[in-house]
Amino acid sequence: MVLPYSPRYAYYNGKLQSSTSASSFQTIDPSTSQPLANIHTTTHSATDAAISSAQKAFPAWSATPPTERARILQKAAALLRARNDELAKTETHDTGKPFSETSTVDIVTGADVLEYFANLVGGGGLNGETIQLRPNAWVYTTKNALGVCAGIGAWNYPIQIALWKSAPCLAAGNTMVYKPSEFTPLHSTVLAEIYSEAGVPPGVFNVVQGAGDVGAYLTTHPGVAKVSFTGQVSTGQKVAGSAATGMKYVTMELGGKSACIILPDADVEQAVDGAMMANFFSTGQVCTNGTRVFVPESMKIQFEKKLVKKMAHIRAGDLFDLSTNFGPLVSKPHFDKVISYIKHGIRADKATLLYGGLETPAWLAKHEKQEYRSGYWVQPTVFTDCTDEMRIVQEEIFGPVMSILTYKTIDEVVARANATRLGLAAGVFTQNLNFAHQVIGRLEAGITWVNTWGESPAEMSVGGWKMSGVGVENGKKGLEAWVRNKSTLVDMAGEVPTVFAKL
Ligand code: NDP
Repeated sequence: MVLPYSPRYAYYNGKLQSSTSASSFQTIDPSTSQPLANIHTTTHSATDAAISSAQKAFPAWSATPPTERARILQKAAALLRARNDELAKTETHDTGKPFSETSTVDIVTGADVLEYFANLVGGGGLNGETIQLRPNAWVYTTKNALGVCAGIGAWNYPIQIALWKSAPCLAAGNTMVYKPSEFTPLHSTVLAEIYSEAGVPPGVFNVVQGAGDVGAYLTTHPGVAKVSFTGQVSTGQKVAGSAATGMKYVTMELGGKSACIILPDADVEQAVDGAMMANFFSTGQVCTNGTRVFVPESMKIQFEKKLVKKMAHIRAGDLFDLSTNFGPLVSKPHFDKVISYIKHGIRADKATLLYGGLETPAWLAKHEKQEYRSGYWVQPTVFTDCTDEMRIVQEEIFGPVMSILTYKTIDEVVARANATRLGLAAGVFTQNLNFAHQVIGRLEAGITWVNTWGESPAEMSVGGWKMSGVGVENGKKGLEAWVRNKSTLVDMAGEVPTVFAKL
């Protein structure tokens, strides 16, 4: 059977490598469950070769002046923008996200971050500081690249995640071996080719393919200085654990169960729009989703009425029709997981099903594209009358499932919003900005929004608190995660401490 995309292999030494692996798997179009391409699992010896290619490239790349690195990375950003629609099409096939979304968000936000870090290092962002101690003595600091870094990505924003990791990594003078999720590998070698075309030297950006065991091999490899990981908390714990054995630097971008708090004075229309954005964009497969929607008791009826009316604006269907804004879930295992949570919500938690549920979406039976009937489509679903103890309220579902909870007082809602081991994101809707900042200041989360949800520009450092992660990506602080500090004390008077002087 001829598949729509060419096979994917490892990429190192500046080129696509032919496979030496006996094992391969297929990546699947989630809208139809049809295979898209064969992926050849990278063997341990080929992963060693990818790491060795990154090691060889490191001395010259880290010594390349930041302005020169910046010029090359800016060129890569321009190539990404020029190929936006072609790359977005690939991402739509691989992830099941509508083209209306991938063509306006996924590549755009990746290219923005690449341009941001190129400009940052080109403009002196890697300069250290000088501290004058005495007239004849001072300390200066330098920021030094770490070496070979591993990037391990999740499947929800494949090319964006690859760029959010590789952009600051390469800009700071490091080299990278990247492993995409086995569910969404198509972008990875295309990105490697784009970097090469822009002038990134061979070995600076490399790709290995495979499942968790390939990732695990990377995280324990002595040649790797840092692991930047995006994925589930449980996997992050394993990755951080094995990285700690080798005392590697880590950045952990993990899961969430964020609180979206509608304050009593909120504009209900705006709050409903915000809550929908916080739950149904990307079919709910966004780490920062505000899946616990806290509504004042007195607003519940009005909020739910407006919400149910607006749910009709969610349009599933042909993924390349620009009016489609809702796709399938990414894979069969993920589809089974989300369905099991919806079942649990109805049968065990006994929450009230306000919208959606388990039935096959009505549009699917009528759609002319028969192949869609084998895809991983679910209905956007809203539960209400939820309580904090319910499993659907406590655990990350990572699908289009909103839980509405009511509250009476601000102290109560803040305490309940914080009563989770996760702390990725949170947000409030209100017309009183003092009130907004007072509540935001009390929320235990690393990414917060006021009267909006989800935007994550290159300038904004993002990272989770508590079990949701370690460190940040993006913004000026995001660059610090890819360098180590060296402090040097200079004494021009030669004032060596005299503790050993003759008495
Ligand atoms: P997983 O944790 O299942 O996988 C993430 C990556 O880790 C994949 O490439 C996976 O490989 C790899 N992996 C699996 N096991 C290991 C291991 N033992 N050692 C090293 N690597 C391993 O996450 P998902 O892909 O399911 O992504 C969804 C999760 O990601 C959600 O929890 C979501 O909240 C989180 N996320 C967080 C973000 C943030 O910025 N905080 C952003 C986006 C998502 P493979 O899949 O190929 O088996």
